[in-house]
Amino acid sequence: MLALNREQITAAFDEGEVLHVPDLENVQWRSLDYFGWVHPSGHVGFVVLQSPNDGRSRGIRMSRAKRATKNRRMEMCSWCHHVHRANGTAMFTVPVRGSEGRHTLGNLVCKDLDCSLRIRNLVQPDSFMRETLYQPAKIWRMQTTMHKWLGRANQL
Ligand SMILES: [Zn+2]
Repeated sequence: MLALNREQITAAFDEGEVLHVPDLENVQWRSLDYFGWVHPSGHVGFVVLQSPNDGRSRGIRMSRAKRATKNRRMEMCSWCHHVHRANGTAMFTVPVRGSEGRHTLGNLVCKDLDCSLRIRNLVQPDSFMRETLYQPAKIWRMQTTMHKWLGRANQL
């Protein structure tokens, strides 16, 4: 994705949103399909991506719930399909815009919102179940999934 500065990131969100934009100094924009970060509290995650509708940057605020499971079990990120051995995902939830908070949509996603890096094998450990799918296809699948999800929530 194209590099964004702090002002552009802030402008992608609704006005007055408290964001805690992280340090952008070492962000490898060329390796990212979306820019995501987690609030220091751990309860909120943010995503900035290009809307497929008008090409503008769109910021989405999500609730984040870590699932503390005693039993180690594999979990797959629904965006990048990385398979984590244990506790690698979190439940991210967005409100459906216009429902006044009555409807929400949840997704089990990599807990640090680092899917782009995982698709490019830039984070360890590797997926527990390797896929023989070309990187561009993985990226396309992830973007399609995110667009569908955020579209259903009227967030794009
Ligand atoms: Zn992921």
